[in-house]
Amino acid sequence: MQSEYDVIVIGGGPAGYAAAIRAAQLGLKTACIDKRLDAKGKPAFGGTCLNVGCIPSKTLLDISHKFVDARDKFSSLGINVADPSIDIAKMQKQKQQVVGRLVRGISGLFKSAGVDALPGTGTLHSGPGVEYAPHDGDSSRLSAANVILAPGSVPVELEKIPLTENAIVDSTGALEFSEPPARLGIIGAGIIGLELGSVWGRLGSEVCLLEAMDEFLPMLDQEIAGQAKKLFARQGMDIRLGARVLGADVGKDGVALEFSDATGTHTQTFDRVIVAVGRRPYTQDLLSPNCGVVPDERGFIAVDDDCSTGVPHVFAVGDAVRGPMLAHKATHEGVMVVERIAGHKPSVNYDCIPNVIYTHPEIAWIGLSEEEARGRGLDTEVGRFPFVANGRALASSEAEGQVKVITDAASERICGVTAMGPSASELIAEAAIAMEFDASAEDLGLTVFAHPTLSEALHEAALDAFGAAIHMPSSR
Ligand code: FAD
Ligand code: NAD
Repeated sequence: MQSEYDVIVIGGGPAGYAAAIRAAQLGLKTACIDKRLDAKGKPAFGGTCLNVGCIPSKTLLDISHKFVDARDKFSSLGINVADPSIDIAKMQKQKQQVVGRLVRGISGLFKSAGVDALPGTGTLHSGPGVEYAPHDGDSSRLSAANVILAPGSVPVELEKIPLTENAIVDSTGALEFSEPPARLGIIGAGIIGLELGSVWGRLGSEVCLLEAMDEFLPMLDQEIAGQAKKLFARQGMDIRLGARVLGADVGKDGVALEFSDATGTHTQTFDRVIVAVGRRPYTQDLLSPNCGVVPDERGFIAVDDDCSTGVPHVFAVGDAVRGPMLAHKATHEGVMVVERIAGHKPSVNYDCIPNVIYTHPEIAWIGLSEEEARGRGLDTEVGRFPFVANGRALASSEAEGQVKVITDAASERICGVTAMGPSASELIAEAAIAMEFDASAEDLGLTVFAHPTLSEALHEAALDAFGAAIHMPSSR
């Protein structure tokens, strides 16, 4: 029997919506089901990223950074702005407008590509078939030649620190504060803790991050991590490592958090607490008992390199499968799967996925850190270049941080780049292109970069990997 759809995608986040649009472009009859509703109860495609993740957090980061510049920096540049203040309600309205615009944009893209947008819950059955339960109305069974599961993830909750309406919140709640809490406690000094701690710290909160691990940002090059920790401390973020939170008591004075560290057991009271201890796959209502797909013990859907679940014609992509929980990784997997369904042969290069922490300065990295390269037994050459020696960074009064290029001495190929500094999120794309094309440090060295640009710091760090940096003494 002919299926109603060539492809049904369950989940309309960066993995699912991109898969659906690409599938329709490739001439496949496609539907995308997403259950998310916005605060007004309207369907909101775009997933975590557009609604409660990347986009709202980056909007708040950008506005709060502009405020800090106006308050703390402008006068030293000769710009006199009398006593700037922040209107949080207006900031939140601006954030909502950005989110709304992008969410509406997905509906527009679906319409023009010819994707059937189906708001409601999708559940995989054997066949493969999908039960579609709209928000209002009766469920129906849809048949599909292929099903792509893209259900995303939700915040991990701590049993000992249950969320409350106002006092103890997750990242979604922390995007909605109507004023900066005077004392803000954050459990977890990972990416969300640092980004949202930066937002509210800039707007006036006293921020304390309690991190269970003894190491700060263990996934990051540890030389840069150490420098970042000092910079964040200067910005007022109190980062306590090796801090195990034992419990919370919500009273009229705030939330008393009990935690232990190397020096003993302590209690500290906060006006609000953000729990930011990671995310977990979201597979509730996704899989019927007969569908053949069973999540592993950590809740992830097991897939191979091509995102196939092992059940014929059923694929899974994005945060719900192995690999980093990043929007661009999710999108690439979604697109890769539909292109393979259409008979093409793309793959995702998991060694070449950029990571960014949108603090100020930004921290970005791709490939191996110096420690990881050494851990793999590689004989490395390391090139460094500090932004303080970069003309454009100095001209824009943004000279903190450095770029580090790691090469494999045997093959001369670049195997990792870490950058902390102005526009590191943009600069890392240049490193991604270089690594995707298997460039050596010399290839980057031979490339002409415009002057004066921040990118010249990457150029010089690559030159430094073979002792040829011009604007500083060799670090080798
Ligand atoms: P999601 O975006 O989670 O989308 C999945 C969608 O599927 C959801 O809308 C969900 O409601 C829906 N769904 C689930 N089950 C069903 C079902 N059974 N039926 C119908 N619909 C279903 N990543 C970055 O790369 N850069 C950033 O700057 C960044 N910032 C972030 C900031 C915050 C505060 C957070 C929380 C996350 C951030 N992320 C960032 C991570 C990024 O949001 C995720 O990696 C990305 O959204 C994953 O995409 P996805 O499509 O796999 O899942
Ligand atoms: P994370 O893994 O980055 O950080 C969580 C931190 O909490 C870790 O350092 C962990 O050691 C710590 N932790 C765990 N349990 C703890 C406990 N009981 N007490 C104290 N500390 C504890 O996770 P996150 O910050 O919640 O973000 C979730 C995911 O969302 C990230 O993995 C990332 O992939 C994605 N994200 C990406 C961006 C970006 O790309 N800029 C921004 C935000 C979120």
